[in-house]
Amino acid sequence: MSNISLAQRVQKLVTLCDQRGFQDLDDLLLAALLKDASPAICMTEGCNNTADMEPDQDQGFCEACGGKTIISALVLAGLI
Ligand SMILES: [Zn+2]
Repeated sequence: MSNISLAQRVQKLVTLCDQRGFQDLDDLLLAALLKDASPAICMTEGCNNTADMEPDQDQGFCEACGGKTIISALVLAGLI
């Protein structure tokens, strides 16, 4: 997923925090690290569908737009 710009990564992570009710990125990543499932978000432009995925998921199926475009917060943040 190295073709994703830093700005896009940050934007999607902020959106994921907002949608899941996390105070900030630290909260989101901590929750992801403590569980078997990580919050994840679709990377398609204009599609901000979220789901819970395996922590190392980087091509999860998006029910909203039909792409294999859902990426976990941990991958998005570059932690995996
Ligand atoms: Zn989508």
